[in-house]
Amino acid sequence: MTQRYIDNPYPDFTEGDQTSFLNGEEYIKRLIATYVGSTLDPRLRRHDERGNLYVGSAGIAYMFWKLATSPRTRDICPQALTHASDFIQAAKEKAEQFKKKPGERFSFVNGNAGIYAVAAVISQACGDPQELAQDLANFKQGLSASKAKLHTPSGCDEVLEGRAGYLAGCYWLNDVLAGKIITDEEIVSICHLIVASGREASQSTRGPMPLMYTTHGTQYLGASHGLAGIMHMLLDSPWFRKTAIPISATMVSDIKGSIDFIVGLQTEEGNYPCSLEDVRYGINKGLHQWCHGAPGLVYMLAKAYLVFHEDKYLKALRRCADLVWKKGILYKGPGLCHGVSGNGYVFLLLYRLTKEPKQLYRAHKFMLMLSNPMFYNVHKSPDHPQSLFEGWAGAICFLIDLLEPDRAAFPFMDVFHD
Ligand SMILES: [Zn+2]
Repeated sequence: MTQRYIDNPYPDFTEGDQTSFLNGEEYIKRLIATYVGSTLDPRLRRHDERGNLYVGSAGIAYMFWKLATSPRTRDICPQALTHASDFIQAAKEKAEQFKKKPGERFSFVNGNAGIYAVAAVISQACGDPQELAQDLANFKQGLSASKAKLHTPSGCDEVLEGRAGYLAGCYWLNDVLAGKIITDEEIVSICHLIVASGREASQSTRGPMPLMYTTHGTQYLGASHGLAGIMHMLLDSPWFRKTAIPISATMVSDIKGSIDFIVGLQTEEGNYPCSLEDVRYGINKGLHQWCHGAPGLVYMLAKAYLVFHEDKYLKALRRCADLVWKKGILYKGPGLCHGVSGNGYVFLLLYRLTKEPKQLYRAHKFMLMLSNPMFYNVHKSPDHPQSLFEGWAGAICFLIDLLEPDRAAFPFMDVFHD
């Protein structure tokens, strides 16, 4: 197997060096300005087939919205909100062509639901209530569409295109916009379907977990296509919030039982297998990136720790972070899905959970790596170098969050709201 990562050149944190690494604010802001230039560079522009959050203009619009509305960065690019508006307008034109397909209405990262969610927050930031109402009406079309079928052969529960992703959009809108945009009852009705779908798949295949899901024919375990992302969104539901909606004990047992099964699959070096098929056939793909492996599993672990208060989840999360520190500087690029920034978010998550300077130190070193020739000169440019999930727009989000680590969250994966 060829090595997919660059050996980390930095020494790990030592207790004597508590804060000196925090003096880099101006440097981070200069990096942001440079990468904003890359995001607007016409030479790096690629054909945008879909306009979605993943590699399309909606993802770039999200980044500009974040840049324009974060107190530490809004001065870096005075035109940020105008750029956000332009990019989301282009995405909405694409979305129009896909409106009739029910699956697209609730597909969040890859489809129309994500485009309309980001459109809504940008309309609000621009002070346009009419457009905001229209965007929300379009987003809410996903509610009925997500309930139409229990499951499909390609799977419809995962984060990128399925119900869990739609829930991520609902939670994000409820956090960002004033008032409950999507009611608890509406959210819980989707959660019931996710559990029913998982139980049916587990029973029909006599699987090892109470809840199981198949996406495109594979029983994935990770954050993007798999069980961990789905469990994260169930744990984030009104069933487990401070003012919780009642949930049956068997339902809790099925959710927790499935989480605990995955936790038990952690390898000696701290990683997680990509799929149940890999577990069954003893395959180790050696992937450690948000979409597959430990860097994506951490959100489910953090959420499980916050909900169930058991140390084993935090312990597993620390082992994930130690692995990412050693092997997380990926040749694949700067992005969120399978790149340096997505992996850097692991440390920001653990910092918010523990407040340990060590985690912030590690996040800073991953920031430095983005511009280190050891990475910059050898990384493989992604297919969509300006995009949110593969490219520099994702790296900018990571840098914005590094300036405000107490509020940091991987886009749409926040675990700390109540
Ligand atoms: Zn990926």
